[in-house]
Amino acid sequence: MITKQDRLNLAHALVFQAVTDLHDILQPEKTHDELISVLIDLVHMGHHMEVTCVNTAHHDDSGLSPAPHLGTHNAGWAIDLWPLNSLKHEDYMDASTHNFRVFLQDIAKCKYYYQTGLVGDGADSAENFTAAGPKAFQDDGGAHVHIGVHPTK
Ligand SMILES: [Zn+2]
Repeated sequence: MITKQDRLNLAHALVFQAVTDLHDILQPEKTHDELISVLIDLVHMGHHMEVTCVNTAHHDDSGLSPAPHLGTHNAGWAIDLWPLNSLKHEDYMDASTHNFRVFLQDIAKCKYYYQTGLVGDGADSAENFTAAGPKAFQDDGGAHVHIGVHPTK
């Protein structure tokens, strides 16, 4: 059970580029509890993340999977982000580092993990696909790590 306070605490532990993404994190209508749970798990594992796109600001991707559109942004099952070295805006982690691969491995350990998308600035290297595991896919658009979730494992 994810509470309103859980969402507020999570929002404080993330770095945002846009206020719409912050609002999406706070609203259950925009982000399923399972997505919030995965992000809380990653914060508890010590990861810092800069959010680049959640739901409202994302183009309509609901056609990528049948209803309930698991793993998509517009149905509240996904987030785009980039890991940070600290909680400082734009202190982006180098995608060629061991720490980046640990981040990808940790995503795949989360209870509600569904898939990882990788694209740009070295995120989509062969080493990173290996680290992210068999559910990883080549994403498109600007550099980001896409995390998709689903309700059961
Ligand atoms: Zn995405």
